[in-house]
Amino acid sequence: MERLQKVLAEAGVASRRKCEELITAGRVQVNDEVVTTLGVKVDASSDTIRVDGKLIRKQAKVYVIFNKPKGVITSAEDPEGRKTVTDFFRHMKERIYPVGRLDYDTEGLLLMTNDGEFAHLLTHPKHHVPRTYLATVKGVPHGSLLDKLRAGIQLEDGMTSPAELEYSNVLPEKNESVIKITIYEGRNRQVRRMFEAIHHPVIKLKRVQFGPLLLSGLPRGKFRLMSPQEVNELR
Ligand code: URA
Repeated sequence: MERLQKVLAEAGVASRRKCEELITAGRVQVNDEVVTTLGVKVDASSDTIRVDGKLIRKQAKVYVIFNKPKGVITSAEDPEGRKTVTDFFRHMKERIYPVGRLDYDTEGLLLMTNDGEFAHLLTHPKHHVPRTYLATVKGVPHGSLLDKLRAGIQLEDGMTSPAELEYSNVLPEKNESVIKITIYEGRNRQVRRMFEAIHHPVIKLKRVQFGPLLLSGLPRGKFRLMSPQEVNELR
């Protein structure tokens, strides 16, 4: 027997937290009865579970590495009608959704899956998956400023944890530089806010690595399936 929200998340309905919301909103039925309390246990193989009347089957788990282009929203729907990451996966029979998020203007490596448990694990603040970005910033920040970011810098939502930074390229004709930065947390707009704090705003941001996974070789807007080994390495 497993908790209802776990079974729903594992069936690819949504993240575990969202599934809890579905339950408390009265949208989930077990054996034709609406369940609104959290913690109810079900047998995924014999109980009939429906969300909004729709029968939930356990789907095969799908894990994808996607090269998100800039100008795409990391959510399933956008009230303003902008392109979303799920638009790239309409042809897939499984409903997959992003693991964490990249800003509208950020491009690069984004994981997508229908495994709610996996998504929850990787986005949990206690799970410090390294995320590496190439940040093109205005000007050429002095080494002492990069040291401040390495040590941790005060943002409105607290100190950042230690980060790794190195110059990747300097573009003197444009008065820009490219800095490789690795952070171990995933706060909202964190890299942009870190560079704002040292007065070298980000012009372009690309995520090139997530844990052991690299973006290299994957064209913009394309995706590939992760191997079982890659999935296990991230767990
Ligand atoms: N940090 C940012 O500022 N933006 C992103 O999209 C990801 C990390």
